[in-house]
Amino acid sequence: MIEERFCLACEKVLRGRIDKRFCDSDCRNLYNNQLHVQANNYVRKVDRDLKKNRRILKQSLGEEKMVKVNKDKLLAKGFRTDLFTGQLVTAKGQVYFFVYEYGYLPLEGNLFLLVKQRIAD
Ligand SMILES: [Zn+2]
Repeated sequence: MIEERFCLACEKVLRGRIDKRFCDSDCRNLYNNQLHVQANNYVRKVDRDLKKNRRILKQSLGEEKMVKVNKDKLLAKGFRTDLFTGQLVTAKGQVYFFVYEYGYLPLEGNLFLLVKQRIAD
């Protein structure tokens, strides 16, 4: 019994070689292009949300050197704690999360201590 196989792009039944995945090169190109589009959309979304994280930290910090902010306030603005560009561990073992040059240290009581990293030029 031969199991029917289907084109990954158009889902028509495939004929011919057992390792065939597409009807033809058009279907293969279509499929690969769709994969690229999906990957690009994902990267764009992460980039957008990282920039948004930075904007939220920047606005919340304002002109202060450091400020304590309630975490929920940041989350309500759309802040994503799973997205950051770097971490900094202090000698005391505290872990700051950085989104570009803006960072935060999670504190007790659902607070974040917001800071800005000095950028060497
Ligand atoms: Zn096809």
